[in-house]
Amino acid sequence: MSLVIAGTMAFDAIETPFGKTDKIIGGSATYAAWSASHFTSPIKQISIIGGDFPQEEIDALKSRGVEFEGVDVLKDEKSFFWSGKYHLDMNTRDTLVTDLNVLAKFDPKVPASYQDCEFLMLGNLMPSLQKQIINQLPKRPKLIIMDTMNFWMDIAMDDLMETIKMVDLLMVNDAEARQLSGEYSLVKAAQKIMAMGPQFLIIKKGEHGALLFHKTHVFFAPALPLEEVFDPTGAGDTFAGGFIGHLARTKDISFENMKTGIIIGSAMASFVVEKFGTQRLKEISNDQIMERLNYFVDLVNFDIDIVS
Ligand code: AMP
Repeated sequence: MSLVIAGTMAFDAIETPFGKTDKIIGGSATYAAWSASHFTSPIKQISIIGGDFPQEEIDALKSRGVEFEGVDVLKDEKSFFWSGKYHLDMNTRDTLVTDLNVLAKFDPKVPASYQDCEFLMLGNLMPSLQKQIINQLPKRPKLIIMDTMNFWMDIAMDDLMETIKMVDLLMVNDAEARQLSGEYSLVKAAQKIMAMGPQFLIIKKGEHGALLFHKTHVFFAPALPLEEVFDPTGAGDTFAGGFIGHLARTKDISFENMKTGIIIGSAMASFVVEKFGTQRLKEISNDQIMERLNYFVDLVNFDIDIVS
């Protein structure tokens, strides 16, 4: 059994109404791996970094069971860099800078030791590269999950459509679901997107939770009402890591188990936003995760007595 996670490993510079960071560690695959490492190991990472990516971060991830054979290192070049600024509501942000750097040269090769992949998480990355990774696996994984963003819809829509066709589950936020489908209603958007290929669709709605769609079924998971959201960066990738980490641990890809996965993903996302970057994901214990999951159960638990 193995979980393969592909995506960016990056430097981010973030500005929120509550503070500003210089370059800190980020990237879709970094957040997803930290989050998934609380549920399963090994995690086989596919990414590319420059010589500037800190060895301590690599060592810390390795100590959590993250394998680096599929991570290319271009010693004399710079890692992917992204910078974003959040608006006051923290649900919307502007991308200020996207410097592809090493990503422009990325030609992912899936190592032989990754070929037993049962669960594949394609984190946010160029859609053509996501497709290249799927095509290198001789045996189709049990479940292929893909995340993407508006950036790729704007510049690589044809590649994106081809890749979406190949995956089992697509994850996007509400604005991206609307952009991809051309529908304002999320229910109509979901039907249109599932007709593009994926059997399952997750629409993330930031502080308003997440929806899971499959055929005519819909499940809603709230986000935890938090007193303070410090930095929402990576919340989506952290959600994805918790979700797929749970599925990989339980090896159960039923709709029912995905419901649990969504709650776990939401709990992990509720941690990551409490501090800048991946900091919170490094600190939390299993007990704290369990405590938060129980909090979620209480949040949505109610008795109802319908008198006929
Ligand atoms: P999220 O907040 O979940 O959307 O993820 C934010 C992370 O995605 C940051 O750590 C960035 O480094 C990374 N990121 C931003 N833009 C891109 C992009 N175009 N492709 C891949 N990763 C990106």
